[in-house]
Amino acid sequence: MASPRFRDTGRFVRRKIPTKTYIPANLADLMRCLDPDSNAATPIRIRGAGTASTDCNTNATGTVIDMTGLDRIIHIDTYNHTVKVEAGVRLGTLVHALAEQGLELIGNHDQMERTIGGAIASPCIGACIGEQAAYLSTQVLNLKVITAGGRIMQVTEQQKHLLNVFRLSYGLLGAIYEATLRVRPITTFSASHRSLTVDTFADVANRLASRDIGLKFYVLPHMDRVYLDLRRYEQSPGSSYNAPWKIKDWGESTVLPHVFKSLNRVLPIPTVKYRLMDSISAATHGLVNTRLVRNGNNVTATGARKRRKPRNLLRSTWCFPASDFSVVIKAYREFCSDTLAGSGYRTDLPVVGYRVARDTSAVLSPSFDEPLIALQTSSTQEKGWEDFVIDLAQFAENWGGTPLFSESRAMRAEYGAQMYTNRLTFFRKIRLQLDPHGRLLNPFLAQYFQ
Ligand SMILES: Cc1cc2nc3c(=O)[nH]c(=O)nc-3n(C[C@H](O)[C@H](O)[C@H](O)COP(=O)(O)OP(=O)(O)OC[C@H]3O[C@@H](n4cnc5c(N)ncnc54)[C@H](O)[C@@H]3O)c2cc1C
Repeated sequence: MASPRFRDTGRFVRRKIPTKTYIPANLADLMRCLDPDSNAATPIRIRGAGTASTDCNTNATGTVIDMTGLDRIIHIDTYNHTVKVEAGVRLGTLVHALAEQGLELIGNHDQMERTIGGAIASPCIGACIGEQAAYLSTQVLNLKVITAGGRIMQVTEQQKHLLNVFRLSYGLLGAIYEATLRVRPITTFSASHRSLTVDTFADVANRLASRDIGLKFYVLPHMDRVYLDLRRYEQSPGSSYNAPWKIKDWGESTVLPHVFKSLNRVLPIPTVKYRLMDSISAATHGLVNTRLVRNGNNVTATGARKRRKPRNLLRSTWCFPASDFSVVIKAYREFCSDTLAGSGYRTDLPVVGYRVARDTSAVLSPSFDEPLIALQTSSTQEKGWEDFVIDLAQFAENWGGTPLFSESRAMRAEYGAQMYTNRLTFFRKIRLQLDPHGRLLNPFLAQYFQ
């Protein structure tokens, strides 16, 4: 049952008052937008590609600074394996440019539309192998930021603690204008796939989550099916080809959402519709996640090289302790069937899971204390979604889920404070020093950060 929380779902719905959007084309423009003497109405929110699921990137009133005009790749250092970019560069553009020099981002990050700034300021999670790369922000060496006071601030590797505060800072400490990231030579991994029941997956989940492998999986809770994608580095993994990964990405990210949107329109009987959707999901994943892809690297495994328009999916992501995940995944299956029985609502797309390594590189790191498993729920079904995300948040609280300020819908402020503990208190103090008048604080973020 939906709890009576008043529209606390991460999307504030209110009367539309036009918000002014600026798209700075250079540093001077950006500084002018943030200058307190300029006429920019407050609150000011910084936006990358706008793909986050909560209102962390938007404003109902005030100003939005769209960073996508700042899109220069400034320098790729092939000797020291670093890259310096402006914050509005899209991930796909950077992945492509690095690949031409035999380099790749550390960690497999799909969703190529997003910007580097957005991926540094909010958790950017993927199927990463190993312990050093939970988030893209982990690889940041230097930042150039324009503060809420309109001044340039450099944060370097030597200012370790300050850098840790700026990583995953959700645009609350200023606009990231430029970033230098650590990259590496393209490294091939092997990918293996399995199809399991939820119970069998639960039996091995804790063991898999504690190993040095990249773990990504797709859950069809109403079919009792999990499709596993396990990635590891091998001595001689063989060659990696683009085409199979492109087909996989196309099947998962394009075919399923489009077909399901159409089915939602044309099939009125839920049982028939859902049975068909589950069969299509199972067939797609059975096909693309079994024999199709065997070897990959962080370039080929991102799937689409070209930038696509962000898909208009409903999404909410929560992270659960990896050590308890075998229990959580079974509880999640029960939650899905209870919700369907109680409210008639269910999500139609497979739930995607990732292992997120323990990572203390950011003060607001969700996995600061332990490795987590991120569960990304998405759907094309709008009717009933808002109540569903409230129930999902309640489920997540019951099972010790860690919220992401950019991705977890219906997150309660008290619960956020409980999970981020004194790190949130510390972050709030720094925020207050850098933005004493709350110019960068919109009502959504004020719930958590004031
Ligand atoms: C279909 C789909 C799939 C997704 N899959 C994944 C996934 O697998 N893994 C994952 O981690 N995420 C995923 N996401 C979520 C999303 O891509 C991430 O949250 C992403 O990092 C946000 O990047 P963005 O450029 O869209 O930033 P926005 O959404 O525009 O902003 C996100 C936050 O960063 C801040 N910000 C943006 N740019 C700057 C800047 N230059 N300076 C300071 N602050 C800034 C904003 O204020 C906001 O708080 C998915 C999204 C979609 C739509």
